[in-house]
Amino acid sequence: MILEQGGKNLIEVKNLVKKYGDHLAVDHLDFRLEPGKIYGFLGPNGAGKSTTMNIMTGYLGATEGEVLIDGCDILKEPEEAKRHIGYLPELPPLYTDMKVSEYLEFVAELKGISKIRRESDIEEVMKLTKLVDVEGRLIRNLSKGYRQRVGLAQAILGFPDIIILDEPTVGLDPKQIIEIRELIRNLSKKHTVILSSHILAEVREVCDYILIISKGKLVASDTPEKLERLMNESESVELESKIHPNMVREILSSVEGIDAVEIEKTENETTYAKIEVKAGYDIREAVFLAFAEKKVPLLMLKTVKVSLEEVFMELTQREEDVNHAGNL
Ligand code: ADP
Ligand code: MG
Repeated sequence: MILEQGGKNLIEVKNLVKKYGDHLAVDHLDFRLEPGKIYGFLGPNGAGKSTTMNIMTGYLGATEGEVLIDGCDILKEPEEAKRHIGYLPELPPLYTDMKVSEYLEFVAELKGISKIRRESDIEEVMKLTKLVDVEGRLIRNLSKGYRQRVGLAQAILGFPDIIILDEPTVGLDPKQIIEIRELIRNLSKKHTVILSSHILAEVREVCDYILIISKGKLVASDTPEKLERLMNESESVELESKIHPNMVREILSSVEGIDAVEIEKTENETTYAKIEVKAGYDIREAVFLAFAEKKVPLLMLKTVKVSLEEVFMELTQREEDVNHAGNL
């Protein structure tokens, strides 16, 4: 089935909450996903990515909220909704006593793929996931990398509109990771792909859109480029001087556009300052002139670009700070 592009919501996650006892694993998640893109759920371990995916795919009930897949409620119309989804869970349910081809036939039958299409579908999927050479091998005798491909193959089988992959590259070697990424890019030509990862480089590499999840909450969501820009707008400036930290603070107090200043002594007994700049300001000239006016030489003055790495750290960190503050 081909879905029309442009503003249509293929997946709607509304106010999703999941509690395990007292523990809030998913905390009011709310987002819409359009067809034809690669989405990345990025978050540290324990953020709630797998729980969210298990709910989106109908494997787990939510405490509150709803998930609509192409307009169908995953709980109220599970069969209709699940027809759209292929899922590679964190621990794929592989029948290790089956041969690869047997297992895929079994999955094809479960998915209700018609007998006429079954053989050609399985062949195509085995080609895509590079499983042809091992089709006669027992799954239990396969390496971790090959087993992961079998997991991927079962998710892709039947070519559903939406392919959801929970940490698809965990445990793979670098060569296998590159292959899986290529496969994911390929899939995105015809499918909407959602993958999760705790590795920033991975989602930056393959995803069109990143949803950063921390402690069950959506803390930011945008394209990788915009997320980086967002942080670049409030960039920081670093400087070094030989004067006392208090003096540095005093001079900087006359400069407009400063959010916060961190000061420390370096090993060479100089004073190093990191200045958080308010959005829209370029304070470098003003800082230079303020030091010049006091006849204090600057040993170094530079702008620091914030990488997405730091965005990720900062956003997930900020949540921690807020939670700690709440506990005090
Ligand atoms: P992620 O996939 O981002 O690593 P998970 O969704 O697996 O995160 O877990 C989110 C939180 O919920 C974690 O704190 C985890 O310990 C907790 N959790 C996950 N599954 C269960 C469960 N079955 N029972 C109790 N707590 C769970
Ligand atoms: Mg997980």
